[in-house]
Parts: sequence; C-alpha cells; structure tokens
Amino acid sequence: MVVVMRPGTEQREIEKLVAQFQLQGLQVGVTNGVGCTILGLVGDTTNLDMDKISMNEHVERVMRVQEPYKKANRKFHPEDTVVTAGSARIGGGNFSVIAGPCSVESEEQIIGVAEDVQRSGAALLRGGAFKPRTSPYSFQGMGVEGLDLLLEAKAATGMPIVTELMSPKYCQLFEDKVDVIQIGARNMQNFDLLKEVGKMSKPVLLKRGLANSYEEWIMSAEYIMSEGNENVILCERGIRTFETYTRNTLDVSAIPCIKKMSHLPVIVDPSHSAGMYWLVEPLALAAVAAGADGLIIEVHNDPANAKCDGQQSLTPEHFDQLMGKVGALVDMMGKKLNK
Ligand code: PEP
Ligand code: MN
Repeated sequence: MVVVMRPGTEQREIEKLVAQFQLQGLQVGVTNGVGCTILGLVGDTTNLDMDKISMNEHVERVMRVQEPYKKANRKFHPEDTVVTAGSARIGGGNFSVIAGPCSVESEEQIIGVAEDVQRSGAALLRGGAFKPRTSPYSFQGMGVEGLDLLLEAKAATGMPIVTELMSPKYCQLFEDKVDVIQIGARNMQNFDLLKEVGKMSKPVLLKRGLANSYEEWIMSAEYIMSEGNENVILCERGIRTFETYTRNTLDVSAIPCIKKMSHLPVIVDPSHSAGMYWLVEPLALAAVAAGADGLIIEVHNDPANAKCDGQQSLTPEHFDQLMGKVGALVDMMGKKLNK
C-alpha cells in the first residue's frame, strides 16, 4: 500500500504515522520528494482500513498496490485448486458437467432427468429445492421435500447433488444432505450467509452476482475461504448489460481473467446467461474453448411445462447431442471429462 502525504506536512506528523504503521507490524519505506512525502507499506496490509487512513488530515491519497484478497489469490497459490464432489473433480485439468432441472418438481421428474443426464456424461446433478424467485407469487421450490427427492435421485444414480442454499437457518440440513452448496447470484454478497457456508465442510459453488466485478466476486470467495472452507468453485452465469435480447450477457472474458487472478476453478452456466434454449449450446462450447473447468446446464424432461426456467432448459435429447460436442472440445483442450 502506498500513502501519499499532503504537501508541506510537518516531519513530526509523518513520523507519527510511520510509527503507527510500524506498531501494526509493517515496514515503512519513506520517500521524500519535492514538497511531498510518500510512504510505502510492506507487510500484511489486508487488515488495514484504507478509508480510515484517508481520514488522516495529513494524508492526500491511499493506494493499494496488491489485491485485497489473499486466500483466493493465485500469487500466493500458483497451482490450480481441484474441488472434489463424490467421484467428480473440477479444476486442475478436470472438467465436470452439472446438469438437471432448474427446480425439483416430482420424484419421477428428478430421477428421470438424473438418469438421462448421467447417461449423457454429466457427473453431478443439479436441482433447486429452495428457489430465489423475483416474484413472491411464483413457484418457490419444494423445500425440504425437494432435498429428499434429490437424495432419492442420488441413491438411484450415485450422482453427487448440487442445490442452492438461501438461508443460514438451513446450513445444518445442507451439511447433512447436500454434496455441493450453491450460493445464487442474488446472494453473492450476502456476507452472513457466506460466513456460515465458510464454516461448512461441503464445497461451495459461488455464482457471480448480476452486476458484480471480478474483484467483488473473488472477495466473496475470500469470505468463505477466510472461515476455513477453501473448496470454492466460481460460476459465471451472465451479467446485466444494456442488451435486452438475451436474459443476461455471458462474460466469456471472466473465465481467463478469473483464472489469472485466482487458483479457484471456474465453471459457466450458459442457461441463465442465455435465457433461451437454442443459445445454450453455442455459449457452452464458447465456455469450454475459453478454458472453463466445467458447466452447469438446465435440463428438463418437459420444458414446455416446467415450473421454472423451461424456456432455457434443454431436453435430454438436446443435452445428449451437446455433450458429444463438449466431450470432443474438452479433449481438444487437453482436459479430462469426469463422468
Ligand atoms: C439457478 O441456478 O437456478 C439460479 C437461480 O441461478 P442464478 O442464481 O445464477 O440466477
Ligand atoms: Mn433456473
């Protein structure tokens, strides 16, 4: 961190501030320029409050020269993190596909879709039991009953299950029943929830918020990791832009950028990015080509009558065709498709 002092600040004020930083265990390099002094802080500055330093009347400006995230930073952890769920691995050259309906609707539906997507090469089963809907009058998910149906589908296929947690009050239930905990886009900055999942032992799939920067997204992962849970998968699911033709805009750049900034695996959700079933395939393939470590795709046995997100859901047949192409492209990228 660099602290620029106001021109003409008295030497004793500079010394006072330097002593304060030294008391916090930092080394301070003092550079005296023409009429202006610059302090270079070396050491662990993650706990320093930049706003508080700026409030000092003798300080002109404070600048970070390092990223504010540490545990998620590739600089301090150069090798890729590999997240494991059941027999599936994500990251470090392992590619996994998560597939299933937007929401669990019945025993027949979830077991049927699970068997279909597994046959096509999906490694994990998705399905929302607690749904974050824009309208309180829309289908809110089957709740605890939905979780039990996911467990039945897991028993039938052996696939690990991925489902969204919206409230800290269900943490214990999810710890007991779920394999990968999804934190939805709308909760990416629900810091209390992030801290709670940080104390859990299950991997967390952290979706990018609708209008959040890469740094904000990684800082949310940092919240989870700083509580002890370092098994975080980042999921790009499209962001809000001025374009209204698509539901969201898939930010393909996020894949290489996040992988440069962080060692955590990055997967892509082409379904929520697109909002339309026919757009899912090209976006999914673009994600693989851009270096994603996995995909999460909505598949429904009867999209026209789905209780949620039918318009962006693939039929099992379409998903099967897509998986043929995904498999070939994953191969070409030198990665291993986990089935
Ligand atoms: C979902 O995966 O069904 C979902 C609600 O996703 P998001 O949080 O990305 O909108
Ligand atoms: Mn959905």
